[in-house]
Amino acid sequence: MTSVVDVTVDGERLHASLERLAAIGATPGGGVTRLALTDEDKAGRDLVRSWMEEAELAVRVDDFGNMIGRRAGTEEGPAVLFGSHCDTVRRGGRYDGAVGVLGAIEVVRTLGEQGITTRRPLEVVNWTNEEGVRFEPAMLASGGVAGRFDQEYVYSRTDRDGRRFGDELRRIGYLGREEDRPRPPAAYLELHVEQGPVLEDAGLPVGVVEGIVGITWIEAMLEGRADHAGPSPMRLRRDALAAAARLITGIERLANDTDGAVATVGRLNAEPNVINTIPGRVVMSVDFRHADPERLEILVAGLEKLAMSVQLATDVEIRLDRFWTSEPTPFDPGVVGAVQAACEELALPVRRLWSGAGHDAKYLQDVCPAGMIFVRSEGGLSHSEEEYSAPADIEAGANALLRAVLRLAGVA
Ligand SMILES: [Zn+2]
Repeated sequence: MTSVVDVTVDGERLHASLERLAAIGATPGGGVTRLALTDEDKAGRDLVRSWMEEAELAVRVDDFGNMIGRRAGTEEGPAVLFGSHCDTVRRGGRYDGAVGVLGAIEVVRTLGEQGITTRRPLEVVNWTNEEGVRFEPAMLASGGVAGRFDQEYVYSRTDRDGRRFGDELRRIGYLGREEDRPRPPAAYLELHVEQGPVLEDAGLPVGVVEGIVGITWIEAMLEGRADHAGPSPMRLRRDALAAAARLITGIERLANDTDGAVATVGRLNAEPNVINTIPGRVVMSVDFRHADPERLEILVAGLEKLAMSVQLATDVEIRLDRFWTSEPTPFDPGVVGAVQAACEELALPVRRLWSGAGHDAKYLQDVCPAGMIFVRSEGGLSHSEEEYSAPADIEAGANALLRAVLRLAGVA
């Protein structure tokens, strides 16, 4: 008899499943467009449902369209829930989300083949609308399950063509019942591609995720004076774009001087945006991220101080509007420890890291102990047709998921 310690997933089968799902909504550039609740999403869901059923999971769909496949344990009570999402961004990659859902199904296939029964029940989940590209905000359905959004709010989200989430869910045949939502689980686990370059830089296939960084978004409005580019001497100008340049350089320095921080000015509008007029007005965005809530506040305070000094030096009025903050989410130490122990069992070198992007696991941590496993992304690329994770790395991640699930669910 095979010892539980020797059980591993079938990497080739997992790879073949990823290839088949990637064919649905495939783009000419080698990526995937499978936006939430479109015909492509429905086709992907139908395939995932057939695989769940083949793996002898009892499939149900909740009122947010989340698909849950259940495998009984020897005990009743809360399940160990694991999965991810199958929706993508426009011209997205083949791995973001899919690796977690298909990796979870592969874990259950493996347990079935090996005749392994867990003590706790297992549930595999495919979350609806993680990306938030078609219906904002992101992580809408896991947020619904966690109680961050109510059903009316979720159903009334509208895409750019005026179609409502609730209507589209019904149209594709995935409107289920509220009582079929996942019950508060014993634990939640998510296998996901890293979407960043840290593991590749470290030369490691798999990472243990400690949590999801906090994010804060600020809009900066710079009010100067538009004027003719010729007759205005430099010292008499109030150039809003020149002031914005000082601000951007300062923001970059703030992040460079704060260990673990990232800062991005990704959007900037200058008015009137004409070659021979001094820019009178600039509106730009600032995105700060840090794992530590205090450091995040220090970054914001640093920006306020910086804005005052730029205003003083340039006579351009600067207003800051901090309009959105997502608090840092450290994952449960027990689940993080289970993932680390799983990697050690597999003799995988362990690296702990924070996720710079949001995931469904963030909201699940509200309702149960949660954790994540990252798989190396080539070039750190994601939300791109060029997104790539090597089959061997995905297999290593799925094996870590298998071990972590067995640790959290217990073997009968
Ligand atoms: Zn994702």
